Amino acid sequence: IFITVEGPDGAGKTSVLRELLPLLESTIKMNVVATREPGGSRIAEEIRELILNPQNTEMDIRTEALLYAAARRQHLIERINPALAKDALVICDRFVDSSLAYQGAARGIGISEVAAINHFATDGVTPDLTLYLDVEASVGIERINRNKETRQFDRLDQEKLEFHEAVRAAYLTLVAENPARITLIDASGTIEEVVAACLDQIKRVFPT
Ligand code: C5P
Ligand code: MG
Repeated sequence: IFITVEGPDGAGKTSVLRELLPLLESTIKMNVVATREPGGSRIAEEIRELILNPQNTEMDIRTEALLYAAARRQHLIERINPALAKDALVICDRFVDSSLAYQGAARGIGISEVAAINHFATDGVTPDLTLYLDVEASVGIERINRNKETRQFDRLDQEKLEFHEAVRAAYLTLVAENPARITLIDASGTIEEVVAACLDQIKRVFPT
């Protein structure tokens, strides 16, 4: 089973996953593999550094999209596919939907162009379930600013409110277009509430 977690910056994906994991491991009788992208393998982590380095301001948007797709492929081949082959439940922080929302929509490359390079990168591997953590862009930005000391600064942190609003709008369109795969979870509440909602959805789709 392949589950992905998506959402705009400040939605709380990383914090929610940290708390969700032990709960998942104790409720689901499967080996659980948690991973994240960009990154999740040595080569993919190196590509992540390259993309997110705040000094790389001259990076072309298509170069960026290709690097995300490259990191994604390496991570898929090294970690996700082998785990799925062993019947693990793989839960991944971000996947192709992130590229559709960030590079395709917010950066303006176009959804279908970005979908095409990602199809090449993934051989069409699609999550069984995607949990989309939804927060208003302004709330997300507020959280990012509040956690500045503990969060690693990245190039995206310089983006304006409109950028984050475009990301969220793109995600909401993806939810509307893929109702069977993507579930919207209100991420404006406490971590505990969001974790409980995620667990409910996973149990609804994969009864234990
Ligand atoms: O998921 P995480 O917050 O670690 O992502 C790191 C950064 O990469 C974030 O600022 C996110 O907005 C950005 N990102 C992106 N395009 C993607 C995936 C992530 O711009 N496809
Ligand atoms: Mg982030």
